[in-house]
Amino acid sequence: MTTMDESELKAFDVVVVGGGINGAGIARDAAGRGLKVLLCEQHDLAAHTSSSSTKLIHGGLRYLEFMEFNLVRKALAEREVLLAAAPHIMYPMRFVMPHESSLRPAWMIRIGLFLYDHLARRRSLPASSQIDLRRHAAGSALQEQFRKAFEYSDGWVDDARLVVLNALGAQELGADIRPRTRCRSISADGQGGWLVTLESCNGATTSVQARAVVNAAGPWAALFNSSGVPGAARHGLRLVKGSHIVVPKLFDHPYAYIFQATDRRVIFAIPYEENFTLIGTTDVEHHGSPAEAKISPEETRYLCDEVNRYFRKAITPNDVVHSYSGVRPLLEDESTDARAVSRDYALELTTTPAPLLSVFGGKITTFRVLAEEAVNRLCAALNVRHDPWTAAAPLPGGDLHNDDFDAFLAQLIAQHPRLPAPLLKRLARAYGSRVARVLGDAQTTADLGEEVCPGLFARELNYLISVEWAQTAEDILWRRSKLGLHLPADSATKIAHWLELHRRAA
Ligand SMILES: Cc1cc2nc3c(=O)[nH]c(=O)nc-3n(C[C@H](O)[C@H](O)[C@H](O)COP(=O)(O)OP(=O)(O)OC[C@H]3O[C@@H](n4cnc5c(N)ncnc54)[C@H](O)[C@@H]3O)c2cc1C
Repeated sequence: MTTMDESELKAFDVVVVGGGINGAGIARDAAGRGLKVLLCEQHDLAAHTSSSSTKLIHGGLRYLEFMEFNLVRKALAEREVLLAAAPHIMYPMRFVMPHESSLRPAWMIRIGLFLYDHLARRRSLPASSQIDLRRHAAGSALQEQFRKAFEYSDGWVDDARLVVLNALGAQELGADIRPRTRCRSISADGQGGWLVTLESCNGATTSVQARAVVNAAGPWAALFNSSGVPGAARHGLRLVKGSHIVVPKLFDHPYAYIFQATDRRVIFAIPYEENFTLIGTTDVEHHGSPAEAKISPEETRYLCDEVNRYFRKAITPNDVVHSYSGVRPLLEDESTDARAVSRDYALELTTTPAPLLSVFGGKITTFRVLAEEAVNRLCAALNVRHDPWTAAAPLPGGDLHNDDFDAFLAQLIAQHPRLPAPLLKRLARAYGSRVARVLGDAQTTADLGEEVCPGLFARELNYLISVEWAQTAEDILWRRSKLGLHLPADSATKIAHWLELHRRAA
């Protein structure tokens, strides 16, 4: 255990606590406005809620039922801004909602979709329409009684990679990014700022000074503020677990489905990682540590039963090849029903003894506007003037000509005729224009170094370690990529072994 002498303390304008999407987004925005930023994340980047979402960039059609017009408008408007910022990890998706008149009448859905189409400006996303399932590609996977459906647009995002790209963007603008570093405490430094104590995963502690601190600890945000932080806002958070299951694909077309569950919730069935269908989610009050959220047998059964009401091909819990759970940090309100709790966010700035901005709630979809609002408020509190800049700025790897991923991929394949096209496609989706930094001068798979697992080569692993902060097999298989779904069961052991040898050699 080491502690630094106060005279050697590094000083930052802003220390961001939490490396989920909100912390990473705030760090990037603040660094781009010239602020000196440190971000600390107690585990891996995106280790928790921000890698456990349904991965939709969406306005949230169902929130209209709860009159959340402001949230829906804000999120709808953000869809195209985000899609343009990283067309490799985000893309438009069409959603099909089979109609079941006993659950919601068609006129109600039509009004909802009209609002969804018109609450915010759309440039590239097509409008909603009514479809005949007997003729539409999405119809054949569904049971015969479903004849009518509605189709509308939203977006898809690789949530964990979105976090890493924001952290990378922040670092390239000067931010100090420290994964596996917990913020142990903050206290007044006696000079109008904060003394922040950080603890790395090996137990070593250091202290830094900060003019302002951002609490972006997601489901831990309320706990962080109540753990002896002077002057902190005390907003209540309601922790609601949501789980997903992954099954071998139930259909072979690019449409996603949104189903109306018997309890009036909605369930998504989404094409996932080429060979799979992602099904979610549930809403279950969560009382333990957010890090321990796990799907229960009842949730798995519920998700299977609900999709079995729609698809021809029935599934059972035995078909589940993977599952994950996350905890939504929702704003505490009077609702007794978890699905009715607002998905909007609140930013609370306290200024005594020093500026502390706390983030409560939020969605992946609204992270950029949340970060912009947060940094506007920090700039005002720190008495500096810097204009917002992220609305038109691509994320690392997102600067594809005309935002055209297909053209980019075709060019990449033409430039590398001796590399397998499926490998190039996976790398292009993950790294966008940065794929050149992963491939280097490689022309054949032999140039990519050792093939540690099928299709995963030493060159990519080196990139993930040196550029994207990956340290464990889990970081690599489940967050920097979703290779865990595709590779043989012994891959985690093989990667861990390779990482160990790599560490010893370094
Ligand atoms: C099941 C589910 C489905 C969802 N689906 C969608 C969707 O489709 N679309 C959408 O827009 N949104 C969706 N969301 C919401 C979205 O995922 C969350 O709002 C968002 O990820 C929250 O990000 P965050 O950065 O606030 O929290 P997190 O991602 O949890 O990040 C907070 C981080 O803070 C770290 N931390 C905590 N305390 C400390 C400390 N003392 N020191 C250092 N680090 C600390 C934690 O380790 C954690 O990594 C979904 C959420 C869930 C649970």
